[in-house]
Amino acid sequence: MIDYQAILSEIYSNVKQESDKGEIASYIPELSRVNPEHFGMHLKLISGEEFAVGDSDIGFSIQSISKVLTLALAMSKIGTHIWDRVDVEPSGNPFNHLSLLELEEGIPRNPLINSGAIVIADILVSELENPKADFLKYVQNITGDSTIAYNLKVAKSEKETGYTNYAAANLLKSFNNLNNSVEDVLDFYFHQCSLEMCCSQLSKAFFLFANKGHCLAHVARLTKSQAKRINAIMLTCGFYDEAGEFAFEVGLPGKSGVGGGITALLPNEFTISVWAPGLNERGNSKLGMQALEQFTTLTNQSIF
Ligand code: GLN
Repeated sequence: MIDYQAILSEIYSNVKQESDKGEIASYIPELSRVNPEHFGMHLKLISGEEFAVGDSDIGFSIQSISKVLTLALAMSKIGTHIWDRVDVEPSGNPFNHLSLLELEEGIPRNPLINSGAIVIADILVSELENPKADFLKYVQNITGDSTIAYNLKVAKSEKETGYTNYAAANLLKSFNNLNNSVEDVLDFYFHQCSLEMCCSQLSKAFFLFANKGHCLAHVARLTKSQAKRINAIMLTCGFYDEAGEFAFEVGLPGKSGVGGGITALLPNEFTISVWAPGLNERGNSKLGMQALEQFTTLTNQSIF
């Protein structure tokens, strides 16, 4: 029997001793207001048990972690048609990189980089009656928590400074890979990124990916095959140009966001979320990566 609580406590004391906590994302001005000292971690086993340390109940901006949740909802709506418009190859590039998109004529490398997520946002704007409200409801439902909300200040802040995302959306539009207006799609995208959740909520939201497509309330949200494919995309594309490093160091499918969150999972075993706002030079949580590396090393649990 693994003593998960003791392992989380050990990781907590290790990361607290780190003097280099990385850099807070400042290109979205509202994100730079976060205290860099925060650290939280939450583990949810498929059997139901939960373990946590630190600031695991403090909400933060989930940013790109939302890309997995929009992908899941879009997949449940239009299934494999998604792959006519987005590929499933790692990009080996930063999350907001544009030149590949131009070279590959408006087909984003995968749904977890910004351009790919903007295409998924376009699909949801077409498919949902009230896109922002319906997506929020979906996240609340799979998490079993109706308190989850958008942070409108963060959404506004990103809208005011989101030049690269406007460039990506305009490129997509010029290649006929956006059906709705750039404004409508980005408004949805900036809101999904602004979702505020804590580690324990994220572990619950991602439960369906570890549980063959069935969310916490035992409702099938995805087929087993769809959950499997989303896990494969997280493993190969969830950390941008650091996906290889994450697979090497941690060995779990997962997704990061520039708010400093990472959620990862071991199919049929657990989901785990960590939050440490300081980022490494690739835009992934510095201490979050270290903490997850220690977790899979100390528990000897990974997909490999
Ligand atoms: N909202 C952010 C952006 O589009 C998300 C980036 C991220 O979390 N990596 O730039």
